[in-house]
Amino acid sequence: MPWRVLLPSAPSRPASMLAFSKKEPALSVAAMRHIRHLCEQIGPRPAGSAAEEQARMYAAAQLENWGYRVERQAVLFAPPVRVNLLEPVVSAVLLLASALWQALPWLALLMPLLVAVLPDIERLRTRWQRCTAASANLCAHPAQAAPDGSPLLIVCAHLDSARNGVFQSGVWRGYAAQTTFYTQRYAIFLALLAVADRLVIPLPKVVLAATILAGTLLAGWRLGMELYSLRPQQATHSPGANDNASGVGVLLAVAEHFAKHPPRGTQLEFCLTGAEETGMHGAAARAAQLPRGAPQVLMLNLDMVGAGSALRFITRDGVLWQYATSVRLNKAIRIAHSAANGIWYTLRSADYLPFLQRGIAASGLQTSGSAEAELAYHTQYDTPQVIDTGALDLTANAVVGVVRQLDLGR
Ligand SMILES: [Zn+2]
Repeated sequence: MPWRVLLPSAPSRPASMLAFSKKEPALSVAAMRHIRHLCEQIGPRPAGSAAEEQARMYAAAQLENWGYRVERQAVLFAPPVRVNLLEPVVSAVLLLASALWQALPWLALLMPLLVAVLPDIERLRTRWQRCTAASANLCAHPAQAAPDGSPLLIVCAHLDSARNGVFQSGVWRGYAAQTTFYTQRYAIFLALLAVADRLVIPLPKVVLAATILAGTLLAGWRLGMELYSLRPQQATHSPGANDNASGVGVLLAVAEHFAKHPPRGTQLEFCLTGAEETGMHGAAARAAQLPRGAPQVLMLNLDMVGAGSALRFITRDGVLWQYATSVRLNKAIRIAHSAANGIWYTLRSADYLPFLQRGIAASGLQTSGSAEAELAYHTQYDTPQVIDTGALDLTANAVVGVVRQLDLGR
């Protein structure tokens, strides 16, 4: 998952157990085995690395063993940039607005919007970058095809893991994780000040001095982090247990389940994408193979589904350029797990987006409510220790439930 999202914590609730078979072990048992293998035997899996390839080979061997026909698709991706030129611009705008909100209130009023569209701009930047490195997708199909006219459900999860954030130690890591949150709140605060100053009561100069100080601190923090990331040091990558060995583990567990209990009226595809963290390049390559707006194709993404007690489905993505996810899939998710809540991704995105952009019905699942997993996001601490089996079962059972809904033609 390339962008940070801040989620409210949910109260802890016991995980739901498998409803469809009492004799078989919970799907989380198999999912956890795959997660451990990916994180502990293989380790961090940067896009295009030998470790990412090892993870792909591991998954291919499992899927072939269960009787799936496995195909590889070559993927080109843009390697992450060393210097993010957007950051000095953001810092300069923050400083300007902090100093000029009294003289130029319109600038302060624009700030919340500017901050809200930052993830969109970041996304465009990734899209304009040249793709010069190679990764691959792995797509598995059941040996036996479903009857003609059955919907095709593509279940996706990304295999690669992200580069570690600049800070790995507790307190700095916590602050760094909250940077976008602070920037958003500060932008709203400046806009409110400008309105109060014009419409209610002219505010004293000391308020202006305070905002200049706050703006300088915030802009300095943002720029300082960017400069700190430039220090000559080898980039390290996250073991990626929650992001996203959890998605891969659940996908493999579900694939094994459906190898034993094939659906009657749904064609399945299990797609393990490469190079998601670099800007969803693997998913874009898979989506490009499908006809634009293909009516009978649905895509369900699994990303960060291994921690917390709340199951979430994505309803909408983006601020400036918004994409709504599939109503049909989201309805099926709610039927499968009635406590599942919708969430609008404004700060980040995931592999379902290239499918939505191609006019294909897609949605995504994630679990939330674990502060430990939130703090471990894109760090060396994203290890199997943050994974809880309840979240894996919630997700796996939801996917099985969605296939059941599609089978019933709902
Ligand atoms: Zn991810």
